Amino acid sequence: MAEIIAQARLVRVENMCDQWGLDLTAGCEHACMYCHFHKHQVLSLRHEHGGEIVAKSLAVDSFLSLDQYPDTLYLSPHTDPLAPSARGPLEAVLKRILPLGVRVIISTKNVVTRRIFRILADYPEQVLVLIGLTSLDDDRNKAVEPGCAPALARLANFDLAKEYGIPSRFTRLDPILPGVDDAHPALGRLLDELVLRGTLQVSATYLFLTPFTVSTPTTNPYMREAATWCREASPTAGGLAYSVPLPRKVDLYSWLKRECTTRGLHFGACGCKDLRLGGNGFATACTNPCLSECTGRTICSLPVIEPSLPVDTVRETIPQLSAKKPDSSRLVS
Ligand code: SF4
Repeated sequence: MAEIIAQARLVRVENMCDQWGLDLTAGCEHACMYCHFHKHQVLSLRHEHGGEIVAKSLAVDSFLSLDQYPDTLYLSPHTDPLAPSARGPLEAVLKRILPLGVRVIISTKNVVTRRIFRILADYPEQVLVLIGLTSLDDDRNKAVEPGCAPALARLANFDLAKEYGIPSRFTRLDPILPGVDDAHPALGRLLDELVLRGTLQVSATYLFLTPFTVSTPTTNPYMREAATWCREASPTAGGLAYSVPLPRKVDLYSWLKRECTTRGLHFGACGCKDLRLGGNGFATACTNPCLSECTGRTICSLPVIEPSLPVDTVRETIPQLSAKKPDSSRLVS
């Protein structure tokens, strides 16, 4: 991981539900082995300002002084807003935009501090707390997500969310490492724990590998095992990536849906991360009205892609995504 650069970068993320997002750093200290976001920030989005360090206060101040903001802001599309370098700027941003009525989606694999919850508590209906947790096994978590909080600390976010009156509590099982995380008994225990802690909604996504993925799978035993199962070119909203074959995904997501329903949880898979799931009657987060994480704009504007289509045919549909123009009409001031 290169040096973390503090910044406040407002981005339209077409390949993540076509929404507005705000990154508070370039790069993320959590250094997850499967993360492809930092290279994406550097190489595709060029968010590092030519590699030059941006003064923290200057960058955040620029954002804070805007006179218009999107009506909903995803924190954060390519970084974790609760990573150490992002936490201070996050507080400043929330204090600026929440009183203006901006809805925020806070997605983290770390601890949401009480300081942050105190800010959120005045605007509970504008807040969705999204916690990333795929495994209760902290040996796995430490090896694969070395900068992130242990499982119990992540779960404690839900205790605090309830204490501070935040009604929208969501868990992302993302990514599920095939051969590591997808045994039913382990996932069942995780779901039991999520129910106890007060999660209401769950989404899941199998690992996918891109050229931007941080870890070369051979350097980490968990990633090495997982990578052996990622054999199929899968169409994601961001382009082709390698993941498990579609039938394995559908099997696991169907099982998770049943298990979640039994426990009173809403479940959906992330449609952006395998376009073949969208529009086929499968419960994606985009099609489930109870899963408020996703606006569904990306999937709903795409042609339906049947699971049986050959990859070459699917590939031909991908360029249609890059022709989509951001919708800049949904701003609040
Ligand atoms: S927390 Fe998210 S952004 Fe940060 S390294 Fe992990 S996957 Fe990447």
